Amino acid sequence: MQDYLLYIAIGVGILLAGVVVFILVRFLRKKRTVRKTGVLTQKLQVEKIKSDIVLNSIEDGVVVVNAQRVIQVFNPSATRLTGWPQAEAIGMDYHAVFKIIDQQGAPYTDSNNPLSLALGQAKTYRDNNAVLISRNNARIAVDISASPLLDEKRQTTGVVGIFQDVSQQRLEEQKRAEFISTASHEMRTPVAAIEGYLALAMNDKVSKVDPKAREYLVKAHGATKHLGDLFRDLLTSAKVEDGRIMNHPAVIEMGKYMERLTEDLRFVAQKKGLQLEFIMGTPIGTQRPSYSRVVQPLYYAKVDPNRLREVITNLFDNAVKYTPIGKITLAVTGDGNIVQISVKDTGSGIPADDLPHLFQKFYRVDNSATRTIGGTGLGLFICRKIVELYNGRIWVESEQGKGSTFFINLPRLSAQQVEIQKTEITPNQTDHITPETYMNY
Ligand code: ADP
Repeated sequence: MQDYLLYIAIGVGILLAGVVVFILVRFLRKKRTVRKTGVLTQKLQVEKIKSDIVLNSIEDGVVVVNAQRVIQVFNPSATRLTGWPQAEAIGMDYHAVFKIIDQQGAPYTDSNNPLSLALGQAKTYRDNNAVLISRNNARIAVDISASPLLDEKRQTTGVVGIFQDVSQQRLEEQKRAEFISTASHEMRTPVAAIEGYLALAMNDKVSKVDPKAREYLVKAHGATKHLGDLFRDLLTSAKVEDGRIMNHPAVIEMGKYMERLTEDLRFVAQKKGLQLEFIMGTPIGTQRPSYSRVVQPLYYAKVDPNRLREVITNLFDNAVKYTPIGKITLAVTGDGNIVQISVKDTGSGIPADDLPHLFQKFYRVDNSATRTIGGTGLGLFICRKIVELYNGRIWVESEQGKGSTFFINLPRLSAQQVEIQKTEITPNQTDHITPETYMNY
């Protein structure tokens, strides 16, 4: 019996010891966890302070938006730019806080707002044409950069937007452009007069000059013409840059438009002995069908026909300039969303290193062709600026010795959009619209 009680006592003793050890271990673990959590919390706090310091000291407005378009992070510079206090902005839809228009005053939509584009397409978008309207209606010129936030499955969870105040820069650019445009405008008149008098001096019917003097006059006339072209291009580029270029977009059927333009340009090509052809292409991504009677699609776009004529003529003139022998092909094609115009030549081609710079101001390829053939290096820059007015894109593909093809993509209007635009035409737009513009869609 005594043994029995002893065993029970030992058992209870072991059990109690076990419980005590268990409680002790749990207590110690908890203490360690609490200590660990404390360290982590402290670390997190330090990190937060660090990122707050960074965010608060950045001069650009920084905003973080979640996938539901709700503002999560809003730094003090964003408050300075928008006029919205951080506490009010956080939790709001970014459209309400960041009201943006372009330099011509048109409000941005989700199809061109960089934040919306970065959210929708999981890519970084930049914009250098925006004006932010602050809470108290001040207008601030901004450059915007928007980058998507992606999770480990590469799903967009939000977007980081950076708004840089560029008012001062834009003001200086505007002043520079104004100076250039006034100077070129003023200088064009005397230069035109000099060119005219030089032409008269070289004209046998009105003046007598000896052969040596004629040689000098021809050179002077060439140089004066170049100066006149330079002033003309400077004036146009200043106008396209500051939005003063005349622009009356209308709905144009590109096939007919380009076919007519090709006819107008034929004489210039023939004068240099170059062939000129116009191709109404089959839609991009389709094969030409074997049967001969094909209904050609109609490609409508909204552009100012006079401005687009300047662009195509410029590309065509370059094709003629840089093609000693061969052919120039103008073409129109497209798909459901775009109209594509191309100007192809069989000329000298462009070195690969120069291709990325061609559409920059004053860029000319440095080779024997450009040294002997006159030019200002402003033509392609003007082309790009005009194409961008219509949300289009211009680029070139070229192989040295084989030729170059310049492409222009313009947004294609759907049948429905053409119908709507018809009712929206203002009187001064109608003079650009040929009767067939709206026919047979
Ligand atoms: P430019 O007045 O010099 O022709 P552009 O801006 O029109 O100025 O063209 C820039 C440069 O691009 C030209 O100097 C020339 O070197 C090159 N270029 C443009 N078009 C062609 C072409 N079709 N073939 C070869 N080179 C071209």
